[in-house]
Amino acid sequence: MRQKIVAGNWKMNKNAEETQTLLQDLVSKLPQTEAQIIVAPTFVNLASAVNQLKNTSVIVAAQNMHQAENGAYTGEISANMLESIGVNTVILGHSERRSYFGETDSILAYKVDTALKHNMKIIFCFGEELKDRQDKQHFNVVENQLRDGLFHIANEAWNNIILAYEPVWAIGTGETATPEQAQEMHEFIRETVRHTFGSSIAENVSILYGGSVKPDNAKEIFGKPDVDGGLIGGAALKADDFVAIINGI
Ligand code: PGA
Repeated sequence: MRQKIVAGNWKMNKNAEETQTLLQDLVSKLPQTEAQIIVAPTFVNLASAVNQLKNTSVIVAAQNMHQAENGAYTGEISANMLESIGVNTVILGHSERRSYFGETDSILAYKVDTALKHNMKIIFCFGEELKDRQDKQHFNVVENQLRDGLFHIANEAWNNIILAYEPVWAIGTGETATPEQAQEMHEFIRETVRHTFGSSIAENVSILYGGSVKPDNAKEIFGKPDVDGGLIGGAALKADDFVAIINGI
């Protein structure tokens, strides 16, 4: 059985006090679930989040990290710094990092290696833009992102990998991929993994969908056989919405 996962990417939202309030609210409302719940607040609030969630099953993830071990990289955060505050999960390759901060597949390949060296779990994000889909290039784009950013890893490393398919045209736009579009792509992704790494890895890797998942569409999307959960942006910022999405798994 693949692990079901619901992860909240808070992006650049919530100050220290708001983070504490949202986590309190979330913990008090958290349902019994087979899914692994992950939250990713901003860097400055990670340490307090880890502390606040220490007696719960909720995992704290970072939204990004730098590929270098340390050094003259003003403003950046290393894997070791995350580890040292108890954060062992990191989101890499989010489309906002790719498009606004110039993260290429080759930079991401480095970040993947550094995170794996530190035995961190990686939520690896990828997905096509609207134009790619209109040009019917979406399968190619997704396959290339996987091959160029991730597929250099060793078989054993797949224990640390969670895939997150996020079509860029559906992120923060209110437009969601239909459950059928999500399933079609997730099946393709699993087949692509199978082709290179074999059936057991392909069957065991969790593939999350992200892009305008909301309480009213989560259940239908999560109901698809190759969708193992979601990476939630906007709707993760309210405990009631996030909990309703968790209940859709
Ligand atoms: P959204 O964001 O749920 O607000 O569309 C998803 C994401 O960027 O991970």
